[in-house]
Amino acid sequence: MFATLRQFMPSRFHSAWQGICLFCRQPTAQPLLCRYCAEELPLLDHHCRLCGTPLAGGNDICSHCLLQPPEWDFLHILADFQFPLTGLIHQLKYQHKLLPAALFGRMLAELYPADEPKPEVILPVPLHWRRQWSRGYNQAQEIARPITQQLNIPCNNRLLMRTRATKVQAGLSRELRQTNLNNAFIIKPHTYQHIALLDDVVTTGVTVTTLVRLLKESGCRRVDVWAICRTQLRGE
Ligand SMILES: [Zn+2]
Ligand SMILES: [Zn+2]
Repeated sequence: MFATLRQFMPSRFHSAWQGICLFCRQPTAQPLLCRYCAEELPLLDHHCRLCGTPLAGGNDICSHCLLQPPEWDFLHILADFQFPLTGLIHQLKYQHKLLPAALFGRMLAELYPADEPKPEVILPVPLHWRRQWSRGYNQAQEIARPITQQLNIPCNNRLLMRTRATKVQAGLSRELRQTNLNNAFIIKPHTYQHIALLDDVVTTGVTVTTLVRLLKESGCRRVDVWAICRTQLRGE
């Protein structure tokens, strides 16, 4: 699955990768993940196309989403928020390690369903400039790089802007998260009809719901959400 990963990695990833599997830390000739860890990844089986809940039958939308669909049109995620992905996500967000972004972006590109139309553009969820400056990068933009290269979908980092430095969302209730985000983003004029909004992890979905609304109000017909994983599935 990852045989050609190297060609999709920006040059700084080449120099950073030491031939060690990101998960088990054993030497490997395969890029980023050894063969064993690649096979053991806890990827989602058949699941709801809107919320990621595992499904048993032939439906592709769960009963919750049939009754009360989210505002986005398709959710593309890789897995539940669980070991060993959690460790790599933590490294990516808080330890200035960018190799996991190359891995996650590559996986999102490879696992994009062949029967779904490709979005015209990928919009990484923006950080406020101050947070991006202090972190040195926006992890969602880093995840987008290999997707852009592999699926040939351009990435636009300038369409959305976070205009207010919102409080960190973790630990806030759903209502407080919504209040925290009101008027936090602006969108520049555009003509896109089908957009993929890319975040690292979707938690309650309040951030992406705010952005999906904004994009639809701006004329977009279909807005998908792409992320490594979702932490809270429906019904939990
Ligand atoms: Zn391994
Ligand atoms: Zn669902």
